[in-house]
This record gives sequence, C-alpha cells and structure tokens, in this order.
Amino acid sequence: MAPVADHAAAVLTIDLGAVVANWQLLRERLRPGASLGAAVKANAYGLGAREVTAALAAAGCRSFFVATIEEGIEVRAVLAGASEAAVPATAAIYVLNGLLPGADEALIAHGLTPVLNSLGDIEAWSAVARRREARLPAALHIDTGMARLGLPADELACLVQDPDRLAGVAPVLVMSHLACADQPEHPLNEGQRQAFAEAFDALAPVLAPARPQASLANSAGIFLGSSYHFDLARPGAALYGVQPLAGGPNPMRPVVTLRARILQVRTVAPPKTVGYGATYAVAQPSRIATVAVGYADGYLRSLSNRGRATVGAFEVPLVGRVSMDLITVDVSAVPAEIACPGAFVELIGAAKTVDAVAARAGTIGYEILTALGSRYARVYRAADAPQR
Ligand SMILES: *Cc1c(COP(=O)(O)O)cnc(C)c1O
Repeated sequence: MAPVADHAAAVLTIDLGAVVANWQLLRERLRPGASLGAAVKANAYGLGAREVTAALAAAGCRSFFVATIEEGIEVRAVLAGASEAAVPATAAIYVLNGLLPGADEALIAHGLTPVLNSLGDIEAWSAVARRREARLPAALHIDTGMARLGLPADELACLVQDPDRLAGVAPVLVMSHLACADQPEHPLNEGQRQAFAEAFDALAPVLAPARPQASLANSAGIFLGSSYHFDLARPGAALYGVQPLAGGPNPMRPVVTLRARILQVRTVAPPKTVGYGATYAVAQPSRIATVAVGYADGYLRSLSNRGRATVGAFEVPLVGRVSMDLITVDVSAVPAEIACPGAFVELIGAAKTVDAVAARAGTIGYEILTALGSRYARVYRAADAPQR
C-alpha cells in the first residue's frame, strides 16, 4: 500500500492493475477482430479519469467514451501527455452527449468526436464542416429501444433516403445502446441487436466507401455473446469491478477499497439512542464507534441502519443515520484494542463489494462509485505494481 498522510480520515484505494486486468479480461471475451474501448465518463465512474485513462491507454485502449466536452478535454490532455509511440494521436474520444450549440470550437480544438444523436445534430455538424471546408469525423447514434438519445427509426429512414444530409461529415462509428443488457433473458436485447444490425446494413451503402465501426455492447452486452460484439465494445462499469450480469460469481476483479478511521468509541446503554432522529435505540449496553465518513463523501444516507463495515476480521453493523461527515457502527463484538480511535474500518473492499454495498443502499454499483466523494485521500496502486 502506498503511504498516505498519517492524518487522513478516510482513504480510497484504486487498483489500476485491477482496472487493466478487467479490461484485458473483457478483451479476451470479444469475438476475433472486435476491439475494446472504455467508458471513462463521469471521472471514470468516480475513480479518476486521468489515472484510469493513462493506465488503459498504456494497455492498448484506443477508443474512449465520455459524456461531456469537459471530460473529453481532460482525457485528450492525458493522451497527449502520454508518449507518442504509446498512444497515437488518432486515439478516439467520443462525446456521448452530442452536439450542444457552440460546441464545435472545443470539439475540433481538442480532437473530440461528437456522437450525433439526431438529424438536428447531423445538420449542425454538417454546417460546421461546410463552414470550415473540412470533413469532420462523427459517431452516429441510432436509438434501437432506449428512447433516450440517438436517431429514432423515422430519422434514420430520412437519413438513408437523403444521405446528402451527411455532407462534410465522416462517420467513423455507428452505435446504439442496450437497455436491458444486464438481464440476458430480456427479449429487448435480441430486438435491439437485430434493429441495430439492420440500421447498420441500411447505412452501409450510404456511407460507402467509408466503413465505420459498429458498436452496441456495454459491459453487460459483452456477456450476451459474440453476436453483440460487432466491431467495438465500450464497457464502463465492469472495468471498475461492478458485476456485469446479476447472479453467479463476479468475473471482474475488485478495484476499490474504502477505509475510514474510527474517531471515538463510547459505551451507550439503554434507553439511549444513536444519531439524528434517534432512529437506533440500543437494546443493551453497546460500544458504538464513530467513523469519519458520511453522505458528503458519497456514503449514501440510504445506508442508515443498513450498512455493514469490517473492523479487523469482524463484520459490524451501521447503526443510526448516516450523517454528513460521520457514521456510527456497533463494535460491541470487536475487542477494544482492535476497534479503537485511529483504527480503520473497511466500508468497500474485498469483503464488501461495490455491488453488495449497492444492494444494501437500494441502488446499483454505478451510483456507489460515481458518488465517491472528493474528500478522500486517494491512493492509486499502479497498473504495473506487483499484486499483493
Ligand atoms: C455509460 C455508457 C456505456 C458504458 O456502460 P456500462 O454499463 O458501464 O458498461 C456504454 N455506452 C453508452 C452509450 C453509455 O452511456
């Protein structure tokens, strides 16, 4: 473990070696010829876009997906900083949010590829290309069932009938997004796969001789089988250790460890209660440890009276409400020399997976990760460091 400040109240350890191992594991699952990108939006799901992008680029990743231009600028800066031999300037950064008015300057200046989500986006990007007398790369997003972003069927039909709408636009990627990939039995998966394949086939003659990549699968989509892989898969969550499909063992390596220190331990006896709202009444004299993490750190308030932590080898329950900076855990079963002020309590880690924490909080691993706060001392375990 890399050293952290002695006074750090809570430490978030991010294992970049595990991120890279997860990326490689997913790549091995792909059909031959398909390549693997990475979703690094939302600060790489809260884990640090800079560090994650650098590690994945070094591992060979050449397609990155972000939500916003600001995220794209950060990722481009990382790729530009990496040595030219390792990361060609051609590494693509796709901006999923599409084309907001006035975005063209920044997109072009930073080598970001917009994901065009509508005929309106296409028209606007084509106008930019004409104005600049340039051919501008873009991704085309087809909506096959998500009803969120992307060209719906009628807009796709318009485009196929009138390909001049793409004048000046060089589509390098045609993509769609699965709504239910984490439920392999869901009929929408196959419906979306077929709709996407048909959309791609309809576009291919329009776009020829260019042959853009086709991309459908997110993390879970990779596990639906090779017919979902097309040319490029774009996982996010699984890279960061979230289980791609519910049920069975998680094939991904855990990435995140979250530990916070005990600040105080006190004995609380009936009829006393613990914390805001007096929601937890002790049934017998109990040793209650106050721990330095709270909802301001992204430790969700819905874990009040539901969370679990580990102290040494002991599993302990969270009692009372999660407050802004603090939680309280019942350490009655833990020897006093182990559960003492200054000792670390583990909240996420090998014993408490992100998915398990999410289940207790009534949410998904994605939200647990992206909520991870900015107050933690962050420790990155290097991708090439020996594993312990
Ligand atoms: C976030 C996102 C992904 C990655 O999804 P995961 O489920 O995290 O693998 C892929 N494609 C699009 C369009 C996304 O928004």
